[in-house]
Amino acid sequence: MTKVRFAPSPTGELHLGSARTALYNYLFAKKAGGKFIFRLEDTDQNRYVAGSAKRLLDDLRWLGIEWDEGPDKKGTYGPYIQSQRLDIYKKHVDNLVAAGHAYYCFCSKDRLEKLRQDQQTAKQPTMYDRQCLNLTADQVKQFFADKTPYVVRLHVPVGTTEFTDLVHGKITIQNNTIDDQVLLKSDGFPTYHLANVVDDYLMQITHVIRGEEWLPSTAKHVLLYKAFGWSAPIWCHLPNVLNIKKSKLSKRRDGDTVWLSTYRRQGYLPPALVNYLALLGWHPTDEQEIFTLNDLTREFDLSRVQKAGAVFDITKLNWFNEQYIRKMSVADLDKELQVFYPKHSQDTTGFTSSIQSRLTKLSDVVEATDFFFKKQLKFEASLLIPKKGSPAKTLLALERALNIFTNVSNWTTESLRSAAESLVSAGEFSRGELLWPIRVALTGLANSPDVFDVMTALGKESSLGRLNQAINLLKKS
Ligand code: GLU
Repeated sequence: MTKVRFAPSPTGELHLGSARTALYNYLFAKKAGGKFIFRLEDTDQNRYVAGSAKRLLDDLRWLGIEWDEGPDKKGTYGPYIQSQRLDIYKKHVDNLVAAGHAYYCFCSKDRLEKLRQDQQTAKQPTMYDRQCLNLTADQVKQFFADKTPYVVRLHVPVGTTEFTDLVHGKITIQNNTIDDQVLLKSDGFPTYHLANVVDDYLMQITHVIRGEEWLPSTAKHVLLYKAFGWSAPIWCHLPNVLNIKKSKLSKRRDGDTVWLSTYRRQGYLPPALVNYLALLGWHPTDEQEIFTLNDLTREFDLSRVQKAGAVFDITKLNWFNEQYIRKMSVADLDKELQVFYPKHSQDTTGFTSSIQSRLTKLSDVVEATDFFFKKQLKFEASLLIPKKGSPAKTLLALERALNIFTNVSNWTTESLRSAAESLVSAGEFSRGELLWPIRVALTGLANSPDVFDVMTALGKESSLGRLNQAINLLKKS
């Protein structure tokens, strides 16, 4: 059975590239009718960030990516957390030592550091010089008796290592360029390489689908599979996610824009992110652009994953988000907006339908409805005057409007609309000449929700007050 895994380390937030890796694994498993595993690779104690694992899980669930095996909703990991499996790795590394594929290394940190510096000065590759490779059994015994700290290293054999990657094709590495990798650290924890390979084998992973940054590690993994006498999974390294300047999207260069949570906080919708991430390195057979998670589980195909880096373009993500916002029912959007911006649950909820076509992300509701909550609107008198309009006519329009609205007793959108219509039909002003200044007077904006909805929400007193203020502003200008 097809079995894949997403195996993040709890070192921060969910990176956009990792979210895409998780998504591709999920889609691949679903399409194949296989299983998708979440495994936490937390063996690097120095890089551990408290709370990170929970955020990773939460962001994936928010996207709608669920795993078949892994931590449950209560946060119980079972066997899918590496720090709970140290005995398993130790046992496997012992086997490798016994078979002569790995060896104990007692070199001190100082010696290794000096070695590295000397190699750097001599412009040689920095690699372990195998001083401990040929220790006798007695020497090893003595080091143990002296309680000398040690690591276990892979003994890289002579020759070449070959493997085939679904995206990158056949890859051949000269073994003499591969360092005798540490497998077990002096703190008793396995390194990423050991734990990752042992777990992928024990968890019967058939396809390793991960980011391209792991491609250089793959030869080491292939050597480990060989040393254990296991057959390796199928490899698939996904293209890097690049920023708009075509360098790898990284926290150092791109700050918080690399985290999924940044987009979540700004009110991007899960289906829009899923859709966009799916296309970040994969292309369907035709020009179709809109895909739900469900569509993707049918369409996704690793053979259409590109090799070249995939550029993350916020304007494209914005476009997707707009499409998904437009597709929502007003009631659903209103619910989302209220969750996102609790203030919206009061009087501005009536604006939802008229702002729907102007929202790029949910957070835009704040700017779109801000005018409502302001005590005093700030705008230039000139904004009140429509294109091709005159100050005198605009003033007249506002005065007529103030007058007619003052006499409206039943303050509803419909009566306000028909009051305004009667003014337009009287022929003195065009619809634009009348409605433009009213809109600006009420909102301070050139684009706003429907003016009559705005008046209903503001109420009579406040609406007339704003019209009055606009009249005064125009008179003073
Ligand atoms: N723990 C690695 C990471 O943080 C997993 C890499 C892999 O999938 O092998 O991305």
